[in-house]
Amino acid sequence: MNDFVHQRRTDLLGAYVLDHLAEPELTAVRDHLDACADCRRTVAELTPVARALSGVNADDVTVPAHLEELVVRRVGAHRGRRLRRSLLLAAAAAAVIAGGAAWWYLRPTAPLEPVALVLQAPGVTAEASLVPHTWGVEIKLDGQGFVSGQTYRVAVTGTDGSEVSAGSFIGTGENPMRCNLNSSVLRANASGLVVRDAAGTVALTSTFPRR
Ligand SMILES: [Zn+2]
Repeated sequence: MNDFVHQRRTDLLGAYVLDHLAEPELTAVRDHLDACADCRRTVAELTPVARALSGVNADDVTVPAHLEELVVRRVGAHRGRRLRRSLLLAAAAAAVIAGGAAWWYLRPTAPLEPVALVLQAPGVTAEASLVPHTWGVEIKLDGQGFVSGQTYRVAVTGTDGSEVSAGSFIGTGENPMRCNLNSSVLRANASGLVVRDAAGTVALTSTFPRR
């Protein structure tokens, strides 16, 4: 067994599934995988995570300072910034497997735009923020008091008066709910949002500031 690879498996296997390894590490990892069932299992676990991360640009990722320090110390400053970023992503991917908490660190650093809500359903409290993605505006909706088990539909209204679906969610009653709703309306073309209950009654609305 190649102990060098096995000892560094946390970052090497992460970098391997992210396709960020160069020689001689690449051959060393491949040889080791032939011999080590443990590491093959880890690669199988990391592969779907790597696929999910493939759209993430390493430069847009917020990495906690202590993790960055750890990787810089381990890899050495002379190895170059790109490799360090790869290993950071790999370490984060490994942490996703370990506990799931790393997703918090992998949040895109896109700015949040809080918007005012007009609450119209009894007992509902909610807050919303927008994320202006290049593919459309995302609504981050935190709320409480949406009737448990009831389906709510969310639509983004366009500056041209159109309504475009941003998906739906199921009420969680008194339990806090956090949901992310995506629409194909660009922030510049979005004028507001509306949430309706299963009967079509408006539960809340928002009018966005003009951008
Ligand atoms: Zn191994």
